[in-house]
Amino acid sequence: MAPAMLERAVEAGVAPMLATLIERGRYIPDCVAAFPSVTPVCAASIVTGKAQDEHLIPGMNWFHRDEHRYVEYGSSFRAAQRFGIVRQLTDTVYNMNRAHLSPDTPTVFESLDDVNIRTAGTTYLMYRGRHRHEPQKDTALTRFASRLMRHPVMGPRELFYADIFASRQTGCRSGLGMPGVRDRHTGCVSSYLVEHDLFDFLLLSLPDNDWYSHKHGPEGQLHSIAQADLQLARVFNAGGGVDRFLEEHAVIAMADHSQAPVERTISLQGELAELGVLAPKGGLEAGSGDAAATAGVDGPRIAVCPSQRGAMVYALRPAERDAMRASVVARALTIEGVDLVIWLERDAHDAPREAVIASPDRGELRFAPEGVGRTDGVVGTGGAGGTGRVGKTGAVTDARGRGWSIEGSLGTLAARVGDGVFISPDYPDALARVWSALTCPTSGEVLLSAAPGWEFLDWGGAAHVGGGSHGSLHASDSLGALVCCGVDLPADPPGQGQWAIRDIAPLVRRHFGLGSV
Ligand SMILES: [Zn+2]
Repeated sequence: MAPAMLERAVEAGVAPMLATLIERGRYIPDCVAAFPSVTPVCAASIVTGKAQDEHLIPGMNWFHRDEHRYVEYGSSFRAAQRFGIVRQLTDTVYNMNRAHLSPDTPTVFESLDDVNIRTAGTTYLMYRGRHRHEPQKDTALTRFASRLMRHPVMGPRELFYADIFASRQTGCRSGLGMPGVRDRHTGCVSSYLVEHDLFDFLLLSLPDNDWYSHKHGPEGQLHSIAQADLQLARVFNAGGGVDRFLEEHAVIAMADHSQAPVERTISLQGELAELGVLAPKGGLEAGSGDAAATAGVDGPRIAVCPSQRGAMVYALRPAERDAMRASVVARALTIEGVDLVIWLERDAHDAPREAVIASPDRGELRFAPEGVGRTDGVVGTGGAGGTGRVGKTGAVTDARGRGWSIEGSLGTLAARVGDGVFISPDYPDALARVWSALTCPTSGEVLLSAAPGWEFLDWGGAAHVGGGSHGSLHASDSLGALVCCGVDLPADPPGQGQWAIRDIAPLVRRHFGLGSV
């Protein structure tokens, strides 16, 4: 949900429930997503309160080093076909929660289940909780799905996940979670839960706005935000209307990320073909084969993982990891539409030393958190307007108060330093988001962020040209709307200078008296 579109929907009078939440609560128009700003990474941050260096979900598509295979969470139907529909569904429905999401980062469901707070969730990528749910077998459609979806899952106390899991017979149908039907299913089961007083905490997901915006562009959100608002009205009405509902409930309405218009595409698989690209089901990718053979490559040497407007590249052979990373970086900097090329440099003990963000035409910025890199010296203004080059390593703090040492061109991120604070409005929370992405053990060796207007083709060759997308480090896809209504915000919230989606799980835990665990 793009903040500007929410604001327009409210002004146009087509989102009266969201307007009420804004009017009675606090509206934050710039809550920053994870990077890559795609749903699996963001959803994991929302439910755990951590970034991917801890929760370990690195992208929409990634390479599983231990299993030596791609993981694909559903970029498009054609992409899913290339990896195998069963494999893609198993990774998305089961493995994401059971195997990929770190066991060391409890979800908000798990935290609340542990103290017997009644949890509930509608269809959402992240559902891990302490209650066991068996797959449904009550309709022809779900009987078909249950041939693939045979296993129970651990979820919140009440779980409604497409038509696959339903902890009660509500009469609500989701059409197996098809786009356009999902918000109605959420509205249906949520009003049932309200009517029967079945939760203390409910994660209510309204995913159709994202789908609609991908198809019709961010401008189209005016329509889909209005549709989502109708479902909120339905839920509030089940509790006696919005006034009565808000007397009894706190509500946090938030976006996991925003969206930006897409006009052109990058085939990263094609651009890097001569390095030897691993195909979805193993072996050299067709098309990569010829280029690789010409270049004398004897087999796959890299995995290419597009995540919409972000992407990752993995070096497959440990012995040549650093050399391959340098080759990928050199090539990536020449690809039209690539805005930023990002990698991690390590010390002699293989520990992270510093992150590097390079732009094809705006230079290079190197940085590390305080205590990791070199933290001597103080950064000056960097010349006129504070946007020049930081000649020697210097210490800065970011908008959230975290300390960093930086060196190089501030122009890489169109950043400036004022009073020792690093400010990069075009790339919000850039240092922390990039550092989390690079030090996430499941991330690739090289991360890419697309320029405004560009998107990486997924493994099915699909993109959202003429529509909208997200995934980059840029503000356009990174800053989403956040509304807190009835939530007692701490006097000095962690996100005071820059709210982030990872601030929400601690707020929820705090609301239920759990401190900030
Ligand atoms: Zn999306």
